[in-house]
Amino acid sequence: MLRATALAFALGFAAQTDAFMSSPSTIGAPRRAAMVSRRGRASIAPTMGHKWDGDRKMRVAIVGGGPSGSCAAEIFAQEPNIDTYIFERKMDNAKPCGGAIPLCMIEEFQIPEEVVDRKVRKMLMISPTGKEAPIGQTLRDDEYIGMTRREILDGFLRDRAIKLGAKPINGLVTGIDLPEGNSETKPYKIHYTNYNGQKVGTPEELDVDLIIGADGANSRVAKAIDAGEYNYAIAFQERIRINDQQMAFYEELAEMYVGDDVSPDFYGWVFPKYDHVGVGTGTVVNRPAIKQYQNAIRERAGKKIEGGKIIKVEAHPIPEHYRPKRVLNRAALVGDAAGYVTKCSGEGIYFAAKSGRMAAEAITKLTQGGTVLPTQEEIEDTYLRRYDQLYGPTYAVLDVLQQVFYRSNPAREAFVEMCESEYVQKVTFDSYLYKKVTSGGPVEDLKLLFNTVRSLVKQNLRSDIPKDAKFYNPVESLQRLGK
Ligand SMILES: Cc1cc2nc3c(=O)[nH]c(=O)nc-3n(C[C@H](O)[C@H](O)[C@H](O)COP(=O)(O)OP(=O)(O)OC[C@H]3O[C@@H](n4cnc5c(N)ncnc54)[C@H](O)[C@@H]3O)c2cc1C
Repeated sequence: MLRATALAFALGFAAQTDAFMSSPSTIGAPRRAAMVSRRGRASIAPTMGHKWDGDRKMRVAIVGGGPSGSCAAEIFAQEPNIDTYIFERKMDNAKPCGGAIPLCMIEEFQIPEEVVDRKVRKMLMISPTGKEAPIGQTLRDDEYIGMTRREILDGFLRDRAIKLGAKPINGLVTGIDLPEGNSETKPYKIHYTNYNGQKVGTPEELDVDLIIGADGANSRVAKAIDAGEYNYAIAFQERIRINDQQMAFYEELAEMYVGDDVSPDFYGWVFPKYDHVGVGTGTVVNRPAIKQYQNAIRERAGKKIEGGKIIKVEAHPIPEHYRPKRVLNRAALVGDAAGYVTKCSGEGIYFAAKSGRMAAEAITKLTQGGTVLPTQEEIEDTYLRRYDQLYGPTYAVLDVLQQVFYRSNPAREAFVEMCESEYVQKVTFDSYLYKKVTSGGPVEDLKLLFNTVRSLVKQNLRSDIPKDAKFYNPVESLQRLGK
């Protein structure tokens, strides 16, 4: 999010690279044209899809009704020759989430104003020593970060897909049988517990021809296709109802706290919602201590949330990088199931919606009006290639920023100092809000680089910055991956 505070020049660089790398002409390129693969080398034309000769309409199952699933479903639903099923285990699911979305998402996905609880126009970055950098001064009056409650946002996106023709199934997908012998034409069998609004469900199954795995970080689809593990952060959030006076302070303001007390490798936040604030933090490297970090963020926010009533406690994994495999045969992963959350900022809603839409657009097109079953290669060479071209550099740069600025308290102090720069604020917000960049040019960027190095050196020489606490946790996240 505007946690965007992820330093601008690098974001800017990422977005510039995006612009350079992504040529719109790749969308809709002829199916048999020679292509450049995701790895950048020329590849032989992908194998052709197979003529659909079933005695029913082609079917797609979208597993998961969050932003990625709903945005995929609404595209498939508009193809009259494909039956679109969207499986959601809990129709009123309130995904644990800060709920911050960029302005471009509101425009691009036509999200109505009433879905946005608050329009954040200011942000306080708070350093380990308590230095506050107010950012957002460069925003125009009509620019803001949207703060949403996920139960509202997800409900809106899902209902829209249903109105467009997607068939909702209130069911928990429990297993998926892959096509016999990895056949490119035989169906998948989805096993699910159909709740249909009831507490006790009934086991049912459905044959489908295409699958979109939009079922989040604990994805069953990823398991079924043996997509491999990814590292993850655990994020914790309390929704706290504070009094009117306290709420007035957060009217259009969000806070982001850095320091090893609130997280050794991420940040803590206070985000305003409709009638309460979301207060949370996350970590990859010391997950067992998440409650200790949560206590620290509450302490740091202090009087601003004092006396508040905790109305909800929530926790969930946040993926740290892509899964090793994102497409197998006719099953494709999107959103968190694929691992599309940025490091440093922890932003995933926009990327979920966008990847769902991009995967669905690419696959619908490949089916040629529900008459052809696409191959794995074709899906990879369209959806994956385009997505990686557009956003690969952003993920890479934010990864570097996290490593540079969240590594120690002096580095975090430098991070906050850098955020005082108007140039940093401008480029950061442009990059975050619009997912593209305006740069002040090479001279400004060089100046920024120089100032960053100077600030890092200066802060490292200070003796009043608390040293990072040592903890014994032999990189549990890597252990989990068996490294
Ligand atoms: C604490 C926290 C704070 C965050 N804050 C932000 C933020 O402020 N801004 C931001 O951009 N990102 C934020 N993120 C990341 C963001 O929440 C995710 O990137 C985003 O929700 C991914 O969307 P998705 O649709 O891919 O998956 P999800 O939102 O996880 O949706 C998956 C859906 O699938 C359903 N489902 C799962 N398994 C099954 C099954 N077997 N059968 C049927 N249905 C199933 C679930 O009920 C759920 O509705 C945060 C994450 C956390 C944990």
